[in-house]
Amino acid sequence: MKPWLEALWRLMYPEQCLVCGQVLEVGRRHFCAACYEGLPWVGETSCPRCGAPAGLYAKTAQGCAACRSQRFAFRRAVAPLRYQGAARDLILAFKLGRRASLAYVLGDLLCDYLGGSGLSQAVDLVVPVPLHWRRRASRGFNQAALLALEVGARFRLPIAARLLKRRRATVTQTALSGLRRGANVRGAFAIRAARNGRLLDRLAGRTAALGRRVLLVDDVFTTGSTVNECARVLREAGVADVLVATVARACHA
Ligand SMILES: [Zn+2]
Ligand SMILES: [Zn+2]
Repeated sequence: MKPWLEALWRLMYPEQCLVCGQVLEVGRRHFCAACYEGLPWVGETSCPRCGAPAGLYAKTAQGCAACRSQRFAFRRAVAPLRYQGAARDLILAFKLGRRASLAYVLGDLLCDYLGGSGLSQAVDLVVPVPLHWRRRASRGFNQAALLALEVGARFRLPIAARLLKRRRATVTQTALSGLRRGANVRGAFAIRAARNGRLLDRLAGRTAALGRRVLLVDDVFTTGSTVNECARVLREAGVADVLVATVARACHA
């Protein structure tokens, strides 16, 4: 939009801060300065493996205390925000309140982070965590796929939205205890089978994924078992490297 047109548009339809409702000055997006600052940012010091917030002096080269003993099929997981407060409210409104337009806001937060940290340049292909078709039908969209679209558009990366499929609906991760989560997702994902040869292969992104570095996108990193299972399936199918990016991550500490 041309600057003068945007100024006129904003005069007629002033954008409000998504957290406090205050009318935003021209040039600000989504949040007023105070609410943006007040978002539950993970911060500068996070675990280089699982992305959990870590203390300034924590030794995390091999992972943090929470993830050191775990094996991941992905190399690294990152998230700009903690899954709490305003971040949690926005994600719930997006998913359960079915406000698909929030994909733009949450996608912006994720993209700013990926761009700022240089990670957007370390990947070749964007793959969303799939939703079971039944849940997608009741919600109307897959939140991860909408976020992946934002990431793909911002960094001009190809998206393989149909590469992975969810074989069965899993119980919501948050409803399960830690130990049962891994078992809950095992075998839940698969690479979409090519039924009619090459063309479908290409549509699903199977050929594009071979040997590539994939950015796996989801809304929330809870225990990591969902993205880990997706990463395992991708690696098995010939993907060279998997990075995980979510808007928020649960913090147990
Ligand atoms: Zn505000
Ligand atoms: Zn960690």
